[in-house]
Amino acid sequence: MPTDAQLLGYLDELLPIAELTQIESQLRGSPELRERLARLSAQRDSGVHAVGDIWRRERLTCLTRAQLGSYLLGAMTDEEIEYAEFHLRDVGCRYCQANLADLRSQQSDTTGQVTKRRAKFFQTSVGRVGRK
Ligand SMILES: [Zn+2]
Repeated sequence: MPTDAQLLGYLDELLPIAELTQIESQLRGSPELRERLARLSAQRDSGVHAVGDIWRRERLTCLTRAQLGSYLLGAMTDEEIEYAEFHLRDVGCRYCQANLADLRSQQSDTTGQVTKRRAKFFQTSVGRVGRK
């Protein structure tokens, strides 16, 4: 069953398509879940939940800006890079993607070959995911 954060992400269409689809089918099969969603939606509209806060709190796997910066600079271990790419590309986290794009635009003037190569790799990967 999805968490509150996932349901809120669903409402705001913040989730990767695969996850949206999965939650949609769970919603179809579960009146309880639909009720939870309706309640969350009402609470959100009345300002009880700051969606971004909940999202970030429960989304513990997100990368910090410092980590994303290291990723751009290629200053990570292979393991860290693998995780970052999994999170950005396979999980398709839109917060981190947006953060990364932001950092990349800040750094693009001052960085060397490694970063350009990484950035290019990332762009092509995202492009591929986006067309799916
Ligand atoms: Zn993230």
